[in-house]
Amino acid sequence: MTDQALSSSESLARDRRLQQGIDNYGVGSWEMNLATRDLVWSATTRRLFGIAPDTPIDFDGFLLLVDPEDRDRVAQAVQRSIDSGENIDIMFRVTDKGQPGHWLRGRGGLVKEAGTAGYLCGIILDVDQQKVLEQELRLQQNQLRSILDTVPDAMILIDGRGIMRFFSSAAERMFGLTEKEAIGQNISVLMPRPDATRHDNYITRYNSTGERHIIGIGRIVTGQRKDGTTFPIHLSIGEMESGGERYFTGFIRDLTEYQQTQARLHELQAELVHVSRLTAMGEMASALAHELNQPLSAISNYMKGSRRLLAGSQDPNVSKIENAMERASEQALRAGQIIRRLRDFVARGESEKRVESLAKLVEEAGALGLTGAREQGVLLRFNLDTLSDLVLVDRVQIQQVLVNLFRNALEAMANSEKKELVVSNARVADHMIEVSVADTGGGFHEDVRSNLFQTFFTTKETGMGVGLSISRSIIEAHGGRMWAETNPWGGATFRFTLPAAAQEDLADAT
Ligand code: ADP
Repeated sequence: MTDQALSSSESLARDRRLQQGIDNYGVGSWEMNLATRDLVWSATTRRLFGIAPDTPIDFDGFLLLVDPEDRDRVAQAVQRSIDSGENIDIMFRVTDKGQPGHWLRGRGGLVKEAGTAGYLCGIILDVDQQKVLEQELRLQQNQLRSILDTVPDAMILIDGRGIMRFFSSAAERMFGLTEKEAIGQNISVLMPRPDATRHDNYITRYNSTGERHIIGIGRIVTGQRKDGTTFPIHLSIGEMESGGERYFTGFIRDLTEYQQTQARLHELQAELVHVSRLTAMGEMASALAHELNQPLSAISNYMKGSRRLLAGSQDPNVSKIENAMERASEQALRAGQIIRRLRDFVARGESEKRVESLAKLVEEAGALGLTGAREQGVLLRFNLDTLSDLVLVDRVQIQQVLVNLFRNALEAMANSEKKELVVSNARVADHMIEVSVADTGGGFHEDVRSNLFQTFFTTKETGMGVGLSISRSIIEAHGGRMWAETNPWGGATFRFTLPAAAQEDLADAT
């Protein structure tokens, strides 16, 4: 045996070992003779395609084993490699008796040999598991995206350098920036100064100290839209690590509407407090006038009596005393008038009647008077009939009545087991709308009922006893009536009527 023959048989053996080794690891090899288009497949390749070891196979036979959906793509990739010498790297499915089979990945390239048309050689391996994982991952990604697309909160993911890597559709709407424009930019473009210039330092500081200022806490900050306008947001940040890199996820809620509602509530509250004080003063003045009337008339009468007694007196000072008494009597009358005028002045107030929606009045009054009701476990029900919605009223005054009734009801139910407050409305006779506020509190005794609306009548330790009397004055000034009933199932119902307004009045008023 010559040296050369030895080395060539050794090299053949080495090739076989190599092939066997690769085959054992599930990697098949293949070769196509470009002249005949016949294929030589290793044992593993045959196993992957489900072809018996002794069955001859050519390129067309191979294509028939490829899933019809992938067949053209595979044929084109092979042709491209033959034409241009470009390498093949392609994933495709093999059919399994008409069923979609498993995924394979084929790689290969052109091998030229002098005197032949050349060969295409390569390897093939099973990538089914990888594909399944990939599909699962894609499914999860799509699910996540659809969740993020539906929640009103925006979500933005940034890397450790503050560069945006994910920008949800809610974020697009909120900041007026497309995902394409946002990704790759620094998150600071969404912030006004000075936060924008400091943000990189915030991240650097966190990376070096680990001190949390906002992560996991959440806080109200200002955001900036693409057009430069700013708006309040609530920002909560989470943190994660992936592939050795740190990422931060920001969940953002637009607070514009919330803050506007809060501001409107504060405004309403201030208005109501102001009017309440004014009405309370009027009510007190009226009560004072009533209370002082008697002593003042008594003073006046005593003065008159004294003057009569003086008439027969010889005292040289009689005329001076008479004069002084006359003045005193005039002043007593004047005092009464002053109080009456004060009462008229305050009671008249600035009553501005307009067409209002009862539902809106109740809702706003609920926001003011029922704060904390839900936390106390009170079930609120607004049974409002939209066909009896428009009333001609002074908005603030009627809200004052409602707030007062709501607060009384909450207080009455403080110790009740069942806590339910129901507000309803109904059209009654004479173009009036009746509103009722029913509770499940302790109710009241029959003797209390006749006094409920008296000024200064209260059964509470810290009560003023003016709420219901003011409420009744307001309702009567609107041409309505107000009364209270005891519910057969316990608790109290307060009812009042208001003038109904027609849809046409609304058109006139606006
Ligand atoms: P205040 O609430 O300051 O006592 P009000 O004029 O609003 O003044 O109420 C007068 C009284 O009417 C209360 O002290 C209470 O005894 C009674 N009252 C009012 N609302 C209710 C209610 N929903 N249930 C039972 N009693 C009530």
